[in-house]
Amino acid sequence: MPVNERYKILFEPVKIGPVTAKNRFYQVPHAMGAGNDMPNTRAAQRGIKAEGGWGVVNTGYCSIHPSSDDRPLPFARLWSDRDIDSHVPMVEAVHAHDALAGIEFFHGGAYTPNRHTRMTPISPSGIQEKTSEIETMSLQAPKVMDKKDIKDLKQWHIDATKRAMKAGFDIIYCYAGMGFLPYHFLHPLFNTRTDEYGGSLQNRSRLLKEIITDMKEIAGNKAAIAVRISTDELLEFKSESSQTEAHELFELIGELPDLWDIKVSEWVKETPSGRFSEPGFMEPYYSFVKELTSKPVVGVGWFTSPDIMVAQINNGTLDLVGSARASIADPFLPKKIEEGREDDIKECIGCNICASCYNQGIPVRCTQNPSMGEEWRRGWHPEIMKPKTSEESILVIGGGPAGLEATLSLARRGYEVTLADDHKELGGRINKESILPGMSSYRRVTDYRTNQIQQLPNVNVFLENELQSKDVLGLGFDHVVTATGSSWELSILDEHFVPQPIEKQEDVFTPDDFMDSKLQSPVVIYDFDYYYMGGLIAEYLSDLGHEVTIITPFENVSPWSFMSNEVNAIKAKMYEKNIKTITEYRISEFKNESLTLTHKITKEIMDVDRKSLVIVGMRLPVDSLFKELSANQSLLEDSGIKTLNNIGDSNSPGAVFHAVYAGHMYANTFDSGIDDDPYDFKFEYPVIQ
Ligand code: ADP
Ligand code: SF4
Repeated sequence: MPVNERYKILFEPVKIGPVTAKNRFYQVPHAMGAGNDMPNTRAAQRGIKAEGGWGVVNTGYCSIHPSSDDRPLPFARLWSDRDIDSHVPMVEAVHAHDALAGIEFFHGGAYTPNRHTRMTPISPSGIQEKTSEIETMSLQAPKVMDKKDIKDLKQWHIDATKRAMKAGFDIIYCYAGMGFLPYHFLHPLFNTRTDEYGGSLQNRSRLLKEIITDMKEIAGNKAAIAVRISTDELLEFKSESSQTEAHELFELIGELPDLWDIKVSEWVKETPSGRFSEPGFMEPYYSFVKELTSKPVVGVGWFTSPDIMVAQINNGTLDLVGSARASIADPFLPKKIEEGREDDIKECIGCNICASCYNQGIPVRCTQNPSMGEEWRRGWHPEIMKPKTSEESILVIGGGPAGLEATLSLARRGYEVTLADDHKELGGRINKESILPGMSSYRRVTDYRTNQIQQLPNVNVFLENELQSKDVLGLGFDHVVTATGSSWELSILDEHFVPQPIEKQEDVFTPDDFMDSKLQSPVVIYDFDYYYMGGLIAEYLSDLGHEVTIITPFENVSPWSFMSNEVNAIKAKMYEKNIKTITEYRISEFKNESLTLTHKITKEIMDVDRKSLVIVGMRLPVDSLFKELSANQSLLEDSGIKTLNNIGDSNSPGAVFHAVYAGHMYANTFDSGIDDDPYDFKFEYPVIQ
């Protein structure tokens, strides 16, 4: 099918200094967790996006000098000529598909603690950002940069530019955002210098101006020089000569680089989850820029669909549509739009599992796209599955994320697949969770897969079909896989913080049954799950008008959500919705209409009133069907079942991305047995010097 008329504008080429992007799809720099340690992984991750039609594909943040060492976070580097080679495979992989390759330099200044290199952090005025215990990056105050340090910093940008050119990059960034060094020079609170690099904005922007000028001289007519800048704080600072300091800055140096890439000053603010943001949420930070420069402008803002992307171009605020998450969830998004197949797009759900990988220092993974990060080590491709190896049939039991992904991927391999679920609708846990506040985008996990499955002739779906072991044995399938999910256990933590099951009581519920119940205020939620469920239920019940208290033994509600950039937003929601939060306590005694709590550390005791209690604790696999079937091997053999597997939550309860990955893994491996081999993937090997 041809490209839809209204999306044609996305396929117009854009000139960026001396180079030209073939279209407006711009994968902005974002970490993928590979860094220089995994050059093959990095090349395959980025190359697949170029193959999928992105006109520009950038690296993640790449340090230009050992005094900008962000270990253990996964940054790339160009510290010496010996680092050049590790970037070449990525550049070649991107160029192979006619896309431009960009590299995002950064010098972290006060922001990088140099844990490994042990070099003294440097900054314009020796001021450190103090936002939290964890985010306070260094115990060591940064050194105030003298003239030699400034000269060195400029030289490091020059040296790194030469190296990036040797590696073949088409776009080279100077990073003046996110608390990094050139940004702190711009910032009136972090730059209190009294020399020609401090004071007026003209002086504070001097260093950036000099760096861009130097880099442009090296890049000549071969590569474009881009600047990534955070505008949110500058927009708050008053200017004597212009609307704000942000406006003044563009008036001063707006024409200097070849491209402006606009972002905000904090990672959590820039990448909030879909639960707490809407597409286009960054518009206030970039909408004024195009009026002040003739250079192309790129910005991000969780643009997941072509309509949202086109709107940014048509409203005259952006020239290039910046994407990180949309390109992770569906590396083939541009190709699908180009081929008029926008219904086939795997739309990002905004869960921020990808962001959590950066925070954990590991290669990126994605809920919607199970092949992300596996392109090189397992040879997985987001669009192409290896063909079937036999004419055998498969029964998938359970239509949640695991069963749906297994069904779709098996069918794409060409197998005849039958999917059975005991509910009226496919979707499993997603059907319940997506009605909770801010979670509707999770439906995209099931909507995408059910929509694709419906178009395939080799899938039969049987709903409202609760299968027992005798049914399964009589159906004549060659392979059976159970993806029957999990259930929440009614348990509380003992004094050793080990969950102990408790008897079902009339006024005590779990996430499985609280919605169908008549809860009475005050409701207490006892949450010792790490992830989102406790906070979501608290919000849901508060929205219904209940008086809600949430108790958790952890320091925060939903503490793992720190990884997905959500923990502070959850805290704010509890506050906004008047939900009382009691942290670091466990329930030690049930009383009539109250609970006794004991503090985790001090053992202090307190009582809390409640009528209803919802316990959000452990989940247990729903695996009785699998266990019954696997208990009698001879019955299995007699019925002709060659393999029996159990995947997803019924094997090991986890997050949605675990279940999707399990479904994909099964579809790839059930006929080869290689999932039994723990070394079924390639490793990157360091070079011995
Ligand atoms: P996962 O996240 O592992 O995909 P879910 O809990 O989301 O797990 O989905 C499991 C699905 O399997 C649910 O819809 C559940 O009702 C269904 N299911 C469980 N047992 C059976 C069974 N015996 N027959 C058919 N469907 C089942
Ligand atoms: Fe989107 Fe979640 Fe995938 Fe990240 S992990 S790209 S937020 S679907």
